Amino acid sequence: MNPLHSAAVEELRAALLGEVITPADSPYDAARAVFNAMIDRRPAVIARCRGAADVIAAIAFAREQRLPIAVRGGGHSIAGHSTCDDGIVIDLSLMRGVHVDPERRTARVQAGATLADVDRETQVHGLAVPSGQVSETGIAGLTLNGGMGMLQRKYGLTCDNLLSAEMVTLDGEVVTASAEQNPELFWALRGGGGNFGVVTSFEYRAHPVGPMMLAGMVAYPVEQAVEVLRFLRDTISSTPDELSTDVVFLRVPALGFFPEEHRGRPVVGFFLRYSGPLDEGWDVIRPIREFGSPLIDVVEPMPLVTVQSMLDPANPRGHQQYWTSEFLPRFGSAEIETVARIGSDLPSPETVMQVIPFDAQPTRIEPDATAFSHREESWLIHIVGQWHDPAENDRCRAWVKEAGAALRAFGSGASYLNLLSEEPGTDRVAGFWDDARLRRLARVKAQYDPENLLRFNHNIPPAPAEAGQ
Ligand SMILES: Cc1cc2nc3c(=O)[nH]c(=O)nc-3n(C[C@H](O)[C@H](O)[C@H](O)COP(=O)(O)OP(=O)(O)OC[C@H]3O[C@@H](n4cnc5c(N)ncnc54)[C@H](O)[C@@H]3O)c2cc1C
Repeated sequence: MNPLHSAAVEELRAALLGEVITPADSPYDAARAVFNAMIDRRPAVIARCRGAADVIAAIAFAREQRLPIAVRGGGHSIAGHSTCDDGIVIDLSLMRGVHVDPERRTARVQAGATLADVDRETQVHGLAVPSGQVSETGIAGLTLNGGMGMLQRKYGLTCDNLLSAEMVTLDGEVVTASAEQNPELFWALRGGGGNFGVVTSFEYRAHPVGPMMLAGMVAYPVEQAVEVLRFLRDTISSTPDELSTDVVFLRVPALGFFPEEHRGRPVVGFFLRYSGPLDEGWDVIRPIREFGSPLIDVVEPMPLVTVQSMLDPANPRGHQQYWTSEFLPRFGSAEIETVARIGSDLPSPETVMQVIPFDAQPTRIEPDATAFSHREESWLIHIVGQWHDPAENDRCRAWVKEAGAALRAFGSGASYLNLLSEEPGTDRVAGFWDDARLRRLARVKAQYDPENLLRFNHNIPPAPAEAGQ
C-alpha cells in the first residue's frame, strides 16, 4: 500500500460526516468485503460518505494522494468493480434515503440504497420503480448499466424510468443531469455505467403496482427443457406486458415454497410474476400451468415486496461467483438445444441459469434515446455461476466459460454488462456499445473524467470530439 500520511487520513476523517476506515481500523475486513467472495481486494482507505459534501471531500483527498478511485453503491458488481487494491473506495452504503412524491409519482433515491429500500418506501404509496430481482442489490450500479427485472415488459428498464440524477464530478462540482440540464450526461448515465462521476441520487418515475401480485414457479423435470423453452418462445409474444415469465434451470432449493420431496432435484421452470389485477392474472397464467405435467406448481398471491425478495435466500453473500450473459438474437432449435444442454448440466447445486425474454417495453424505446445499447427483441441467457468452496473455482469457472462460449456462437457479441464477470481477453465493452455509441460515450467521458480516474467499471476511455464532430 502507498503509505498514507496519517495526518492526511485524519484530515479526511475530520472533513467527513461519514466514516473513514483504514487497514488499521477493526471494521476494515467487514467494510472491504463485497458481495462476490471471489473478489478479495485491500483498499488503502474506505470513505463511507453521508452526502455530496463527503463525496467532494473524498474525491479531493484521492486526487491529492494520487489514489485510484473505486465507487461503491450496493457492492454487488460481480466483476468486482466497486473495490480496488491500494486506492480509495468511495462507499455510498450509508446513503440509503428514499423520498416518494405520490402526487407526481416520483421517487428520489440516494445512491447507496438497495432495491429493497426503494420497494419498501414506494409501496407505502402503492407505487413501484422497475428494478432487479434480488432485493439486496444496489440501485446505483443496476441503474447505470440498465436495470432488468419483473416490471420491464410493462414499464421498461430501470434506466428508462430515470428522470434526473445528481452527480459529483471529478472536479468536485455538483451537477444535475436530466432532459433539460446536461442532456448528454443524462443520456450517458442511462446505460453508460459508472464512468462519468459519482452519482449521489437518482430521481425515478414510479408506477402504480401492487401491493399484491401473483408469483411463483411451475417446474418440470429438466429432461423436458426443450419443450418448456419452445413453449416460452411460441407464447411469450401473445402474453400481456404485466406478465414476466423467465425460464429458470436450477436444483430445487431449500426454500419454504418449494415442496420438500423435490429438494436438490434438477428442474426447469417458468418463474412467473403478474403485476396486473389478480383475477385477470389467474386467467393469464392458466395456459402455462396447464402446459405438460408440472412437477411443481406453486403460484400464489403475495405482496410485491415478498416477490422482489423471494430469490434472496438463493443469492447469499459469501459465495464464489462467476457469471456470464449473452443476448441471442433468435431462439431457434439449435439455440434451444444448446441452452437445454447447458441447463441440464449445472456445475454446482447453487448455479442457476435464467432465460429472459427481452421484448415488449424495452424494445419499444427509441434505440438512441439512452446509452443502453441493446433494444432489439432477443433472448438474454444469464448463467449465475455460484458455489461455496474456493477449491471449486477452477472447475466451475471453466464450466461457465465453456457454456458462455457455446452461447456466444449464436450471439452478436452483446452481453448485459451488469451480469458479467471480468473476462480478460474479450472485449465485451465494444460488444455491447456499438461504435457510434462508444464514440459518443467517450466524448461525455472526456468532458467529465478526462483523466479516466474512474476506471473500475466497464471502462470507456475518454476521447474528446475531433474537429468537425
Ligand atoms: C445477486 C444479484 C442479483 C442481481 N440481479 C439483477 C437483476 O435482476 N437485474 C439487473 O439488471 N441486474 C442484476 N444484478 C446485477 C447488478 O445490476 C449489478 O451487479 C450492479 O452493478 C449492482 O449495483 P451495485 O450498486 O450493487 O454495484 P456496485 O458493485 O456498488 O457498483 C457497480 C458499478 O457501478 C459503479 N457505481 C456504483 N454506484 C455508483 C455511483 N453512485 N456513481 C457512479 N458509479 C457507481 C461502480 O463503480 C461499479 O463500477 C444482480 C447482481 C447480483 C449480485
